Amino acid sequence: MDTAERVLAYGGGWLDRAGPLRTDPTRLSALRTKSTTVVLPLWRDRCLVDADGPVRLTAERASLVLSAASETVFLGLDGDVAVFAADLSALTEQSATEMAGAARSVDVRALVGRLEPGDAAVQAYARGLLHWHRQQRFCGTCGAPAVADGGGHVRTCSGAECGRLLFPRIEPAIIVLVEAPGPPGRCLLARHAGAAEDAYSTLAGFVEVGESLEDAVRREMAEEAGVTVTDVTYQGSQAWPFPAGLMVGFRATATSDEVRVDGDELLEARWFTRAELRDRVASGRTLGRVDAIDHRLLQDWLAAAP
Ligand SMILES: [Zn+2]
Repeated sequence: MDTAERVLAYGGGWLDRAGPLRTDPTRLSALRTKSTTVVLPLWRDRCLVDADGPVRLTAERASLVLSAASETVFLGLDGDVAVFAADLSALTEQSATEMAGAARSVDVRALVGRLEPGDAAVQAYARGLLHWHRQQRFCGTCGAPAVADGGGHVRTCSGAECGRLLFPRIEPAIIVLVEAPGPPGRCLLARHAGAAEDAYSTLAGFVEVGESLEDAVRREMAEEAGVTVTDVTYQGSQAWPFPAGLMVGFRATATSDEVRVDGDELLEARWFTRAELRDRVASGRTLGRVDAIDHRLLQDWLAAAP
C-alpha cells in the first residue's frame, strides 16, 4: 500500500459530508431538530470533553447548544444521523463546558493518540471550519458583514451591491524528505529556529501564489537550505486544520551534498544516515511529530532501506 492510501491522523473521517444537503435549507432545518441528531460543541478551537472523550450531544442538550451557539455548521451524515458542530466561543469556558455537560476543554491535538482516527478527523474538521467562521466575519471586498450559509460551508456578503461568496480558506504547505545524491543513503533534517537544541525535522514551507507544489518544494529547499533538488515526488497529503493547513508530502533528491542554511528559519541542516536515525529512535527521540506527515515520511524512508 502506498503512503497516500494509508490514513494519517486527522484523515479518514467517518462522515459522509453530504454536500447536496448543504443547499437544502428545508431538510437541514428538519435535521437540526431531529432527536437523533448529534452536536459536537467546541470552544475557541478546543473540544469539550468528559471522561470518555469529546462529548456528543443529542436531544434536549443538543438543541440547547445549537440555539446558544454563535455559529453552527453541518458536518455531514453518520449513516442517517446528522452531525453538526456548534461554536460556544462567545461564552466563558466555564459556561460553555457546563452547557455542554462536559468537564473541560482540550485541543484535539492533545487527544489524538487516544481518539479513534475517524473521531480525531471529525473534531479537526469541526475545529477548522468554526475557526474560519470566526475569522471571516466581514467581506474583504466591501467590508460589510458576511453571513453563514450553505450549512456553514460558505459565507455570503450582506452588502447590497456586493453579495460576494466567501469560501473556507485552505493554506497548502509542502513538507519534504530530501535524499542525498549518492551513497550512503542519507536524508536532510534541520533544526528550526525556536526548536529544542537537539530537535531535527524535515524541511517545510508554505506554497506561494502562482506556484505549483513542485515549484514550492524547489524554492523552499533552495532558500532555506541552499539545496537544489530534482525528482520531486508526491508521497501523500494530510489535513492540518490548525487553523487552515493542508500538508503535502514529497521526496526529492539533492544534486549535491552541500548545505547552506539561511540562519533565519533554519539554524542548522545536516545529513542523517538510517543508522543515525535508528539510534535517535533507540535513545527515545521521536521522528517528527507523531501525528504529522513528517513522521510518516521518515518512517517510510527508514523502511525503504536498500
Ligand atoms: Zn462585500
